[in-house]
Order: sequence, then C-alpha cells, then structure tokens
Amino acid sequence: DPQLNQMYTFDSFIEGDCNRVARRAGKTVAEKPGANSFNPLVIYGGVGLGKTHLAQAIGNDVKRMHPGKVVLYVSSEKFINQFQDHSRNNAINDFIHFYQLIDVLIIDDVQFFSRAEKSQDAFFAIFNHLHQSGKQLVLTSDKAPKDLDGMQERLLSRFRWGLSADLQVPDYETRIEILERKMKNDGLDMPKEVVKYVAYNINTNVRELEGALISLLAQSSLNKKDIDVELAKKVLRNFVKTSSKEITIDAIQKMVCEYFDVPYDKLLQKTRKREIVQARQITMYLAKAFTKNSLKTIGEHFGGRDHTTVIHSCQTVKDLMDTDSIFRENVMELTQKVQLAAM
Ligand code: ADP
Ligand code: MG
Repeated sequence: DPQLNQMYTFDSFIEGDCNRVARRAGKTVAEKPGANSFNPLVIYGGVGLGKTHLAQAIGNDVKRMHPGKVVLYVSSEKFINQFQDHSRNNAINDFIHFYQLIDVLIIDDVQFFSRAEKSQDAFFAIFNHLHQSGKQLVLTSDKAPKDLDGMQERLLSRFRWGLSADLQVPDYETRIEILERKMKNDGLDMPKEVVKYVAYNINTNVRELEGALISLLAQSSLNKKDIDVELAKKVLRNFVKTSSKEITIDAIQKMVCEYFDVPYDKLLQKTRKREIVQARQITMYLAKAFTKNSLKTIGEHFGGRDHTTVIHSCQTVKDLMDTDSIFRENVMELTQKVQLAAM
C-alpha cells in the first residue's frame, strides 16, 4: 500500500504519559476495527508529536491482523483535491460510493476541512454511512475538535461520538527513550551524556528531536569528530530557538506556584515550610536562568531579599538536582514550561 509507510508501527511508537491514551486506543481500534467504543477515534496534537505515525500504525496493524479489510489512509488535502476533481466532472456520487466501501478510513489532518465546505458535505455523507455500517473512522487534527473553527457543527457532534485523545510533548525520560530507539533502529551509538543533553534541550516536538539527532550525526561524520557534548552544543545552537519573548519574573513565579500548588503570597513571605522554601528557590533559579534581571532585582521580587539569598538558592537547586531525582524531574519539567512560554 503506497499510502502506508511500513516504518510507522506501534512498536516504533514509544509510549509515555504524553501519548498513552491515544496509543492504547489506537491499538484497540486496530484489533477490533468498528467494533469498539472509539469510533471515530480522533487523535489531536501539535506539529511533530506523532499524529501521522500513530494513524499509520493503526492502518498497518489492521492490515496485518485483518488482511480482508479495506484500509485507506488519506490526507484531508488529498481528499479535498479528489473531491474537487470529481465535482468538476459531475461525479460526486462516484466519489462518495468509493469511500463508502472502505472498512477502515483514516483521514489525516482534518483541520484542513475547515476551508472546504463542500468537501465537508461529502465527508458527512461518508461518515454517516461508514459509522452506521460498523466501519471504523480514524481522524487526526492539529487542534482539539472543539477548537476546529469552520467545521460544521454536525460533523463536530459526530466526532464526539467516539474518543478524542491528545498527543503532548514527551517528557524528558520519554525523549531519551525515543532517541535511544531511533539510534538502535539505525544501528547508531553515542554517549549517554549526549543523549541526555539532546533530550534535555530539545523539548518542542519529536520531529525536532529526530532532526537534532540527524544533524549531530551529519556534523560528526563531516568533521570526522566523535560525538560529544561539545559537538552537541554547537549543533543544537541552531535548534534551540532564541527566545523572542522575554519572560518575566512574575510569569515564572506564577508558573511555579501553579506547578507546586503553592499560594503566590506564600512564595514572597518568610515561610520556612520545606515545600515553600524549595518552590521559592526553584523560582529564583529559573528567574536567574531565563531572565536578564540582576540578582538584586530578582531578590526584590521575593519580598525584598538580597542578592546573596538568590545566589544561595541557585546553588541549593543545583546541588539538589544532583542528589534528588524527583526534585530534578520537577525542575526539568518547570524548565520546559518556562522555555515553552518564552518561545
Ligand atoms: P505529526 O503528524 O503529529 O506532525 P509525525 O507523526 O509526523 O507528527 O511525527 C514526527 C516524527 O516523530 C516522525 O518521524 C515520528 O516517527 C516521530 N515520533 C513521534 N512520536 C513518536 C513516538 N512516541 N515514538 C517514536 N517516534 C515518534
Ligand atoms: Mg502529520
């Protein structure tokens, strides 16, 4: 099947908190297409987070487990183009009939339907027929169905019949796993500290993670140089976006408070409760790392503490990150959030 890429399998789709629901629903759909409560299955999420991979994995798995079933994977752009061709040739019924014969219809990137009213009408007719006949629909979208502007309400209401599952940015550990799997598949190797460095710094999406890996390999062979953290630093400079927005101390304070569920005023007061003290230290550390404010200014934002307190806090955070893995994970997650907010 030219539409389905054999590389996109469930096996090569690493599971993490970021995609667990979608991945498992996808497996269920592939095992029992049409005969499950995820019909349609709508997979949504930002660019490079694995929508196409997962949608294709479903298609590949259905073919493997149910060789008699007719599977069709199509992008919404192609669907729309085909529809418009048929429309010009007065052959809309042929178009609709063709699609009504499919057992598992996978349409990628349905957000593009929003600009194509007539195609939505055809899709509506196809959807109804397939759903009533117990056939499976799998859709992907770059937005949650409720945010799909320009989509007919009658279609959106049908999307709600099944399951909408989102894909999020993989966390640090999952990014490491993705990199390691990718290297294993390609028969590559590089030091663990480099893998960690890349996984830590590329926190936008999986496509960029893969892109960074490829650049790194290319640079290493081009310069006949072993891959090490120094090289990774050079290569990643082109990936890590230079932040356009300047993030403020206030914004970081709000993020940390929300993350640890700590009241904002507590962060500024002289509370000695351990959770609060740690939240405060982390906030100072992030403010130092991600804003251009002086230590003095940072201190002032915490109820008028002086710059030595800020220095001490930053050092404490660094030390704790080395010794306490949960603490480190918290700081890394927060770092990601701050980085995303600064993009
Ligand atoms: P989208 O369609 O959401 O833009 P893709 O499905 O094209 O994203 O994924 C981008 C790249 O990242 C692909 O090469 C894909 O194989 C890879 N990828 C995404 N998620 C995962 C994952 N969980 N495990 C392994 N690879 C992944
Ligand atoms: Mg895609």
